[in-house]
Amino acid sequence: MSTEFYNPEEAYSRSEIEALQLERLKATVSHCMNSGFYKARFDSIGLRPQDIRTLDDLNRIPFTTKQDLRDTYPFGIASVPLKDCTRLHSSSGTTGNPTVILHTKKDLEQWANAVARCLWMVGCRPEDVFQNTSGYGMFTGGLGFQYGAEKLGMLTVPAAAGNTLRQLKFFKDFRTTVVHAIPSYAARLYEVMCEQGIDPRRDLALRTLVIGAEPHSEDTRRRIEEMLGVKAYNSFGMSEMCGPGVAFECKEQNGLHIWEDYYIVEIVDPQTLEPVPDGEVGELVLTTINREAMPLLRYRTRDLTRILPGECACGRHHKRLDRMKGRSDDMIILKGVNIFPIQIEQILMQFQELATDYLITLQTLDDNDGMTVEVELSERFFNDDYAALQRLEKEITRQLRDEILITPKVRLVPFGSIPKAEGKAVRVKDLRKQY
Ligand code: ADP
Ligand code: ZN
Repeated sequence: MSTEFYNPEEAYSRSEIEALQLERLKATVSHCMNSGFYKARFDSIGLRPQDIRTLDDLNRIPFTTKQDLRDTYPFGIASVPLKDCTRLHSSSGTTGNPTVILHTKKDLEQWANAVARCLWMVGCRPEDVFQNTSGYGMFTGGLGFQYGAEKLGMLTVPAAAGNTLRQLKFFKDFRTTVVHAIPSYAARLYEVMCEQGIDPRRDLALRTLVIGAEPHSEDTRRRIEEMLGVKAYNSFGMSEMCGPGVAFECKEQNGLHIWEDYYIVEIVDPQTLEPVPDGEVGELVLTTINREAMPLLRYRTRDLTRILPGECACGRHHKRLDRMKGRSDDMIILKGVNIFPIQIEQILMQFQELATDYLITLQTLDDNDGMTVEVELSERFFNDDYAALQRLEKEITRQLRDEILITPKVRLVPFGSIPKAEGKAVRVKDLRKQY
């Protein structure tokens, strides 16, 4: 087999993938009978594990939601006794009970394998030096990438989040070649490189960047690549599905292969919950088929995306997800119009005069709701010609209005002036009056 593949399952044909999925789905559903939560659910609709005969029978299984995780907090969905679990990860719980995901030793090994497979796919090898700028602890981007990178055999630098000057020192001193960062932090790294007079192409050995955890547009990716002189690959995951390693771009950079030997993927209409045809946008629903501690069946992720039609030139037949449009709960409803922040980002990134950081503020003025979009000017764009800046603002406003059907107020602000969040970027501030 080609050394391009880390696991034989990567080279499976569609029929091999589906045969393995059916076998694993059956085993998972039987195993779920050990969970009080699933047993009660199945009993209430008279579903028995032997009723799952084909992959189409998946739709006989009820959906699982974040609310189910909250209602059964902390250990209520577990399918194994707690003594068999070796780690838990928990979400922040800002809007109610936090959620908990349990892992057995085997779950953690499989997760590390999935992450190693992703990193290998984009060309990481044991000779590489991998620096992780994610927070460690409960945030799965820390330990998730750590164990995956170690499994692959790279020299790992668990720098963790923040302290940008120290990150840059490590890049230089350890000759870091691969970095994992959320996109907004990748932009921040570049900002501080500029301040410090560091030219990444001249002074550093960076080659590959793994970016994920937040929605970002294709243009943002290209800009980050251009700024840092790297190839940047989109990485998708969520704590409920272990963390990173769920879906990842290959070198073709044309969508994220979702590992179908680990997950069964469905895209459903979020209102009717009926499947949408391949190629149409809907809510991503995932079923874990190789987890022991806490399998999740038909989990509604709330992420909106679509399956990309066609084959990938890399030779993998695992389906590809389009970049995420956002979560259904990220949608802004302003004056009755539905807007996703990524639509605004896509327009802004068309302008070479702009940097990648922006902030959308929703406000009520004189009983009218409105939107202000602040966006940083690029560090390369110096212009003290007031009229030119005004023309630029006007053009951005016009293009945004065409896209979102609402006229925002656009404010151009200096490079580096929008406050940076500790973790994932905060792109929207809602200060509207609640009636
Ligand atoms: P939290 O729920 O606190 O954000 P997670 O780390 O579990 O914690 O976040 C997972 C979510 O992050 C996903 O459901 C998705 O909305 C978002 N996400 C993760 N990776 C990407 C990506 N590559 N592109 C867009 N959004 C992403
Ligand atoms: Zn591919």
